[in-house]
Formats: sequence, C-alpha cells, structure tokens
Amino acid sequence: MADPIESSAPKARSSGLRDLASQPQLLSINTATVRAQGNLEDIFNACAEQGISAVSPWRDQVKDIGLKRASALVASLGLQLSGYCRGGMFTAADAAGLEAARDDNRRAVDEACEMGAPCLVLVVGGLPGALEAKPAHRDIAAARLQVIEGIQDLLGYASSVGMPLAIEPLHPMYAADRACINTLEQALDVCELLDPSGQWLGVAVDAYHVWWDPKVHQQIARAGAARIKAFHVCDWLVPTTDLLLDRGMMGDGVIELQALRASVEAAGYQGIVEVEIFSQNNWWKRPMQEVLHTCVERFKAVV
Ligand code: ZN
Repeated sequence: MADPIESSAPKARSSGLRDLASQPQLLSINTATVRAQGNLEDIFNACAEQGISAVSPWRDQVKDIGLKRASALVASLGLQLSGYCRGGMFTAADAAGLEAARDDNRRAVDEACEMGAPCLVLVVGGLPGALEAKPAHRDIAAARLQVIEGIQDLLGYASSVGMPLAIEPLHPMYAADRACINTLEQALDVCELLDPSGQWLGVAVDAYHVWWDPKVHQQIARAGAARIKAFHVCDWLVPTTDLLLDRGMMGDGVIELQALRASVEAAGYQGIVEVEIFSQNNWWKRPMQEVLHTCVERFKAVV
C-alpha cells in the first residue's frame, strides 16, 4: 500500500506555485472551447483581442480555413501553440483500417509541424467501431496492444521530424469508444516502454480526465517535467448531464485545480495552462468574447 502522506496533494498555495494572475502569457485556449461561435480565424482574432497569446487548435477547424491560412494567422497574430488536437485513434478492425490510421496520424504530425505546435496530442482510440456504435469485438486488451503498436510506429516518424507526442489518458467512461488508455499510470507505462528518454513521448495531463484518480499526484510526480507535454483544465460539474459535452468552466465544479497545478509544477512543469471546455448547452451558446473573458478571469482566480 502506498504511503498516504507521499501520495497526497501538495498544498495548493505552497510558495512554489506560479502566480497566474501576473502571467497572462501562460494561458492557452483550446479552440474547441468556442468552436460553436466561429471559425478558427474568428477564434484566433478574438483571442488576440482578449490578450490571449496561446491557442491549441483542432484539425477539423484548421481544415475548414486551410492549413496555410491557419499557420499564417498564427504567425501574423503572434500566437503560440500549446498543442495540436489531435492524433490517435490507432485501433482498427482490419489491416486497411490500421493503414488508414497510420497515414492519417502522419498527416497530423505534419500539420502540427506546419502550425508550430510543441506537441501532437493523442487520443488513442478504443474498441474499433465503438465510436460508431458498431464495436468489431470486445477484446480491450487487443485494442490496447494495437494502441501501443500504433504509437510505436508513429513515434519513429514524429521523432524524425521533431514533433513530440503527448498521450492523453481519458476518463474511463470513454474506454470503449475513445481511448483505452485511461490513467496517467497506464500512459506513463507506455511512455517508458517506447521512449525511455522522455524526449519524444509524454503525456497531456487533462484535469477533467484524471482528477478522480487516487494515484494522480504520485503519477504526476513520476512523469516529471520531461514527460508532461501539456496541462489542460476545465471543471467537473455536479451533476454532469452529458459525458462528452458538459464540461464546466474552471471554478464551477469539484476539481481541485490548484492542487493539480501544484503537483504539475512541483514535477517541474513550467509550460502553458490550456483551457479546454466542451459545453453544448452552456458555454457554446454564449458570445465568444464573453466565454474568452470568463476563461481569462477564472484562469487568474481559480486555476
Ligand atoms: Zn484535453
């Protein structure tokens, strides 16, 4: 049994915690947060207007305005990226599906390079076909093996072009259809297996997915600065009315965000804090500037 003292959270307001209120450049907006309110150009411009200097765009949003246009906007607005969303979905029912996933992931790496992202975030996939409600089988162990093989293959390509990969463990409620890597411990096991150096393969720590895990603080410490490639925040609402599209604004739910950030920073992470909220019935229905302004205020006050 783990030492209960060792695995407990560092005190949230310990002296080492960065002061986010005085460092607005540490805030990034994951562009899904306002995806319902405009295209990527609108979002980039609105972020710049709010003094938000970092973003993490999604591939479909980039595709909508074109990769060249998207990367030109990043440059002209002086934006930084905190990640690129996303690669993964490595599992498939047959060889053709695996090959398609392989090709698509290489394109995702190329796009991440073109956009100047610090890492490509990986949502690894679950049982093949499950996302379309037609699971090809029930062998989650086989799916996990395909994921490891897929990451291993992509890692060779990604490292050759200089793009780090960040496995994002997803909350276990998504194990069937979105990601069969469900804890930081599991993700870090894969990282250590495939890239002992930590240079090219690490994790994206998303508060929404990991907050519940009794081992979260010890696993963040295990990850260390080299493997923590991204840190995502939002909040877990009580009650949660939709498993995918009812994420809360920071401060509106039950996640101890400062305790998580304290652990991440104690592990040596000095990077950007990315706000990522999918909220079909609340934040996606509000004006973009209101949402972004609220993100800025909550980032300063409760993250
Ligand atoms: Zn995330």
